[in-house]
Amino acid sequence: MNDRASTTVVVCHDCDLVQRCDRLAIGQRAQCVRCGAMLHRGAGMGLQARCALVLAGLLVFCLANGFPLVSMSAQGSRTATTLFGAALALWRQDMQPVAVLVVGTAMLIPLLELLVLGYLMFPLLWDRVPLGFDRILRLLHYLQPWGMAEVFLMGVLVALVKLAHLADIVIGAGLWAFGALILLLALNASQFDSRELWACYRTLKTD
Ligand SMILES: [Zn+2]
Repeated sequence: MNDRASTTVVVCHDCDLVQRCDRLAIGQRAQCVRCGAMLHRGAGMGLQARCALVLAGLLVFCLANGFPLVSMSAQGSRTATTLFGAALALWRQDMQPVAVLVVGTAMLIPLLELLVLGYLMFPLLWDRVPLGFDRILRLLHYLQPWGMAEVFLMGVLVALVKLAHLADIVIGAGLWAFGALILLLALNASQFDSRELWACYRTLKTD
């Protein structure tokens, strides 16, 4: 599959020159022959490895949501909360817009992003064309800017630092998993190569 999809036609974003670009190896970069702008960068990972990254992301997502983020003890009582529990608490304290933002940007969008990546890449691994490939790829393009799990994590860390002198805080497995999820999402995004997927898709469609 990769041999058939070794060359693709690309358009330079800077000068609109249409040119052919070979499949690049790890660390290689393709530059425009006319203006020198960077056209494409070698993804560094094969499709199989990227599918494994998606699976790892989904697994870590389950851990991040299944285990408490933090547990706090103050004045003899201890409470622990998960990510969804934190959003629910915000909702109950009349902060519904914040609760919706937390659920949307830290839970739903990252999950949807991983599911969409899996939906696009797993069938190609077995030389199958995913249904609605172009529409789903476009959906991923719109989804990615809305995933803000790292902003949520930063907020949690700031809150923990501020609360540290008021309560005894223990960081839960959920927060460690959430940190790992952010790293995996970033790795998934950096290794995502829409050009290669398009090349695979076109090859399978013409067969
Ligand atoms: Zn150019």
